[in-house]
Amino acid sequence: MIESQVESQNFIGGEWFPADSGATLDVVNPSNPAEVIGTTPDSGAGEAERAVGAAAGAFEEWKATLPSGRGAILTKAADILESRTDELAELMAREVGKPMKESRMEVGRAAAIFRYYGSEGWRMHGMMPPSTRPGVQVSSVREPLGVVTLITPWNFPLAIPAWKLAPALVCGNTVVIKPASQAALSAAAMMRALKEAGLPDGVVNMVTGPGGTVGDALVTDSRVKALSFTGSTSVGLGIQERAVGKKVQLELGGKNPYVVMEDADLSDAAAKIAFGAFGYSGEKCTASSRAIVVEEVYEQFMDELVEATKAMKVGDPLEEDTDIGPVVNSDQYEKILNDLEKARNAGRVVLEGGATGSADEGYYLAPTIISEVDSSSETAQEEIFGPVLAVMPARDFDHAVELANDTRYGLTAGISTRSLRYAHEFIARSQTGLVNVNLPTAGLEFQVPFGGNKESGVGGREQGPAALDFYSAWKTVSILPL
Ligand code: NDP
Repeated sequence: MIESQVESQNFIGGEWFPADSGATLDVVNPSNPAEVIGTTPDSGAGEAERAVGAAAGAFEEWKATLPSGRGAILTKAADILESRTDELAELMAREVGKPMKESRMEVGRAAAIFRYYGSEGWRMHGMMPPSTRPGVQVSSVREPLGVVTLITPWNFPLAIPAWKLAPALVCGNTVVIKPASQAALSAAAMMRALKEAGLPDGVVNMVTGPGGTVGDALVTDSRVKALSFTGSTSVGLGIQERAVGKKVQLELGGKNPYVVMEDADLSDAAAKIAFGAFGYSGEKCTASSRAIVVEEVYEQFMDELVEATKAMKVGDPLEEDTDIGPVVNSDQYEKILNDLEKARNAGRVVLEGGATGSADEGYYLAPTIISEVDSSSETAQEEIFGPVLAVMPARDFDHAVELANDTRYGLTAGISTRSLRYAHEFIARSQTGLVNVNLPTAGLEFQVPFGGNKESGVGGREQGPAALDFYSAWKTVSILPL
């Protein structure tokens, strides 16, 4: 059990530094807002510039390190993270309110991602197709880009940094990461694991502070060659405009649909939608925020859904059986309560949730289900990022697909059906980067590409082999032996 405050500092050139001004930001426990669980430097542009300098200085040597050597360090970091599973899971539960069972899985996932990309150091496949010119040998190999900046959100404090850092590093880039201030303590733990694993000084650097200052300095620094961001659509699109001349990858929001057909196993569908909508308080870009149910089974399904939702436990994230902890901070709490007010007017409330007590006792929100929501309403169109589910009736399969695609987002979609025809047509017609048949929209595998279409994603997929394409550039070589 972590009792004391956790201190995070900037990690630059392999050493730990406070902010130049000495100022710090408090990391507050969302289960108990009176408790400051740690502090992190409230840095500015100067610290960001020095971190980019450290990364630029470390680049040539890291680039020259054999990919298998780079991979071996990642594999060692995976072992270190895994050996600290309980400690890190508890830190995340206190830092962002993530329930212990999901926090533990996240540590395991971060370690697996480091292992996966660690082993990529042995492969790093290029290509050598037959040349079209007699006697010529043509081949293409991957080269690192240089200094890359990673800007990460609070909702997956270890997994998102891991799935950006690991491919960036194995490809031979050096990195400056700016984690969300709320999740800076977990990010610092990841820096410690990488240092202990033997990562040379300067290869990874971390600077914490407000996105508007530290983040902006990293986005506009001409020494930074590529930038990968996960967070809100508005911030992401602003970054894209300012990151002139850089390779940019944005993972943004979602308003993910889950369709229930008349032939579905309704109780299985209800359990999967409840988990996708309300697990971790709906604070996942892959959360199921819209359920689309064909009229034939609508009422029957709603009964199953309410029952499955009531079975989920709202409570202290440190308790092993909790499904829904507090939302992350007072800003999100107020925003969701405001969105809830609008949601109540957007349809029929079938399960009344909202605040379970006063905010002083923690930012706890019970799940809310709103039925017969109009697809054009704000509740059906805007990301709430909280435990609120909009349910819509569909006349038939075609109408369900139309509703599912009626959004500016395109991250993930699900369908419950036993029909191969429905499943295949849904896969083909869904305008999303991920499709799930009889599986929740939330929950993904790291060895396959991840990302969205439309306003959910820009600049290529993350994870799996796709990440290598973002973090490297192809060099094509033609040789004519004389
Ligand atoms: P933001 O998009 O504001 O923050 C994401 C990251 O960007 C953080 O590290 C943040 O730093 C940084 N940042 C903020 N402003 C700038 C800027 N101008 N330039 C560079 N970096 C910047 O998301 P929030 O955490 O505030 O969450 C708000 C909403 O975003 C949620 O309600 C949800 O809808 C969505 N969201 C989506 C996620 C996803 O996975 N798609 C993940 C998290 C949130 P800092 O926070 O330290 O200021």
